[in-house]
Amino acid sequence: MDLYEYQAKELFAAHGVPVLPGKTVDNADAAAEAAAEIGKAVVVKAQVKTGGRGKAGGVKLAETAEEAKEKAAAILGMDIKGHTVHRVLVTEASDIAEEYYFSFLLDRANRSFLAMCSAEGGMEIEQLAVERPEALARIPIDAITGADRAKADEIVAAAKIPAAVADQVAEVIVKLWETFVGEDATLVEVNPLVRDPQDKVLALDGKVTLDDNADFRHPGHAAFVDQLTENPLEAKAKAKGLNYVKLEGGQVGIIGNGAGLVMSTLDVVAYAGEKHGGVKPANFLDIGGGASAQVMADGLDVILGDPDVKSVFVNVFGGITACDAVATGIVEALKILGDSATKPLVVRLDGNNVAEGRRILDEANHPLVTLVDTMDNAADKAAELAAARA
Ligand code: GDP
Ligand code: MN
Repeated sequence: MDLYEYQAKELFAAHGVPVLPGKTVDNADAAAEAAAEIGKAVVVKAQVKTGGRGKAGGVKLAETAEEAKEKAAAILGMDIKGHTVHRVLVTEASDIAEEYYFSFLLDRANRSFLAMCSAEGGMEIEQLAVERPEALARIPIDAITGADRAKADEIVAAAKIPAAVADQVAEVIVKLWETFVGEDATLVEVNPLVRDPQDKVLALDGKVTLDDNADFRHPGHAAFVDQLTENPLEAKAKAKGLNYVKLEGGQVGIIGNGAGLVMSTLDVVAYAGEKHGGVKPANFLDIGGGASAQVMADGLDVILGDPDVKSVFVNVFGGITACDAVATGIVEALKILGDSATKPLVVRLDGNNVAEGRRILDEANHPLVTLVDTMDNAADKAAELAAARA
């Protein structure tokens, strides 16, 4: 999960990284109040999960509360690279003597962590990396020893951070490492990290990506989930522990067991859909190995709740959980859902104990269920049904 700047700065503050006080608001009057509370010049900053806000006009200085209100009114509702601005951060403004760049990230290619640092911050890092690669220090970080003070000093020297602030920047780097590890982040970036005219070092911007796989270790991170932009079906699926991703522009709901099988199912449905007016898969949903009736019911419930879905393809390969158990799961799930199950289901079962599984579905003879023998034929049937109901 990517965080907003204001959330990143909350984590920074919690780990002792110097940031200026501020408040996040969703209307211009509240922006004026926040500026009045701060009582000095402020910066009004669009809170959207994309960079380049400054260039897009989403970061503006305001000397007075009245001016903060005007700037907030101009920024709220703005579209920045496809992201609508719903909130602005009103934060104390800093004078800037120099701008630096710093980040820790997961370096997948080298199976390690990486620190990147430059005394030439402010501009976009991609641009700096291309135009002045020698100005961007890249220091690998050992996962076991991490970024201790000695490593931070090495980074500061490699990036040619001026001597007057070298100690402070090194201290900030150690605290950013504590943020990175302590919060299970895969990215912590500060651009710009500034030196003010009094030689104080401050994080003026912050970008943090948290590793969702570590959510269980951080119950507090749940508060960062954005209710404004989260897809409600994905939220419901998450609450039920399902591995679900909504796909825009699709009409065929997909349920399968095993991520690989579900991925292939998306492909065969997209392929079959071409013959039926361009019908496409509407989601990814992997119900995993133990497809109990309750898990099947939860999965169907999420998918049937998607107004885009016109038909559902249940594609199961019986392995450790045999086909008869899955078939029973489907029949029981339809009982649990009762009248809320209203869309046609195409079921393809294969693998362990398939004959018994098919017998169970035949015997149940549910009016919504069509049993099809092969994956390709089932995909075709599901696409045909979706096209007919579109
Ligand atoms: P981004 O464009 O999305 O990366 O947003 P930033 O938070 O980095 O802000 C963009 C630019 O606005 C920074 O590089 C600074 O030059 C400028 N800026 C941000 N905060 C302040 C501030 O407190 N004082 C001054 N003078 N400039 C600021
Ligand atoms: Mn920035």
